[in-house]
Amino acid sequence: LANRAFHPENTVVNAGGALTGDGHFAMMAGPCSIESREQIIEIAKAVKAAGATMLRGGAFKPRTSPYDFQGLRAEGLELMLEAKRATGLPIVTEIMSIDHLPLFEDVDMIQVGARSMQNFEMLKELGKTKKPILLKRGLCATVKELLMAAEYIMASGNDQIVLCERGIRTYETATRNTLDLSVIPVLHERTHLPVVIDPSHATGVARYVPAMAAAAAAAGADGLMIEVHNNPAAALCDGPQSITPDTFEELCRRVEAVRTAL
Ligand code: PEP
Ligand code: MN
Repeated sequence: LANRAFHPENTVVNAGGALTGDGHFAMMAGPCSIESREQIIEIAKAVKAAGATMLRGGAFKPRTSPYDFQGLRAEGLELMLEAKRATGLPIVTEIMSIDHLPLFEDVDMIQVGARSMQNFEMLKELGKTKKPILLKRGLCATVKELLMAAEYIMASGNDQIVLCERGIRTYETATRNTLDLSVIPVLHERTHLPVVIDPSHATGVARYVPAMAAAAAAAGADGLMIEVHNNPAAALCDGPQSITPDTFEELCRRVEAVRTAL
């Protein structure tokens, strides 16, 4: 179902009016985690003004350490919905357990994080919903494994899927992960599903994010997911890779210039 050979037309995913794919570029931006009402509303307004098409923000966080901030969970989702109402931006946020699905009723796009990419039972259940899904590539997943994870969702009846490259594990330690930009042409050849790049988790370093965002746009990505925080130094999660709203505005201009030049 995901195979381009049997479905030559590009898929356009519609998440609450925000389109991704076939020439529609998604600019998903926001904090790693929702931390407070003030924080998420301020960031939502700032990224909207700069050119974001969707607001991102985690309520359920897949942290490596159980002692790290785990997200505001259900309360965080409520604050995210407030930010959606305040700005009109459709929202994308991660699900970690299918038991939480009822809480995602008003979420426009459900994110399956890298660590959940092969939670096949969850993929099957998400396939039974009509919700757009942002499927992130696993930490060590091959392109084929990513496509098969999408196939699980599609086999259950949901074809509204956006694929997201967020860096893979290699021997290199200068960046948090290694951004595999070559997946853009590879995936575009093999599948009709849109491809979004997350340079924030890929590099782990805020100052590298704008260059990789521009590179992704140049390579034909269908969108970007960017972590933006109004006070990166105080962020409860992923501060070192979070850019400020001002830098995000510059990034949007640079990406727009690259896309216009294509
Ligand atoms: C995230 O987007 O906040 C996140 C946890 O990403 P990933 O699953 O790619 O690590
Ligand atoms: Mn993060």
